[in-house]
Amino acid sequence: SQRVPTDLNALVDESLRLAYQGLRTKDKDFSAELDTQLATALPPVPAVSQDLGRVLINLFTNAFHAVQQRQRQADDPAYQPRVSVTTRAVPGSVEIRVRDNGVGIPDGIKAKIFQPFFTTKPVGEGTGLGLSLSHDIVTTGHGGTLTVESQEDQGTEFVVTLPA
Ligand code: ADP
Ligand code: MG
Repeated sequence: SQRVPTDLNALVDESLRLAYQGLRTKDKDFSAELDTQLATALPPVPAVSQDLGRVLINLFTNAFHAVQQRQRQADDPAYQPRVSVTTRAVPGSVEIRVRDNGVGIPDGIKAKIFQPFFTTKPVGEGTGLGLSLSHDIVTTGHGGTLTVESQEDQGTEFVVTLPA
């Protein structure tokens, strides 16, 4: 469908809140610190906001699952789940960084996470389609890039870059 100039800050904020509410509906005891740093002057990005919204909700939902999982495993009362998002204008593009301090991604599976149906979640909880679909929407759909950096037991950062 047609891309139209889009205010990414609004979409980012809305998607973060939707994903957080979604998780808290299933797990009422869950809470995480949300850290939002939105650029003040972000150029509009040609986007299909429904598609990009799905990408963001996917990334945030994965982030919340990762911190929830770490909280369950850690047995560390000092652990504070945190999900952060940053938007930033870079020359010719806009960057969205989604960061969590969750379980991280082991090196051995980093190469597989964008493959369709790859999941480490229990049967019925993950389809393994989120990142594959997200990658397709960002690259084919928007001419952007979707990359990941992660440290096991430290956390994960996904970077979405979109031509402005
Ligand atoms: P699903 O969420 O259904 O498992 P995805 O395509 O969204 O499918 O993610 C694939 C896999 O990538 C996940 O099962 C998980 O192993 C890993 N992953 C994705 N995001 C994160 C994250 N933020 N932290 C740790 N692992 C992640
Ligand atoms: Mg997912």
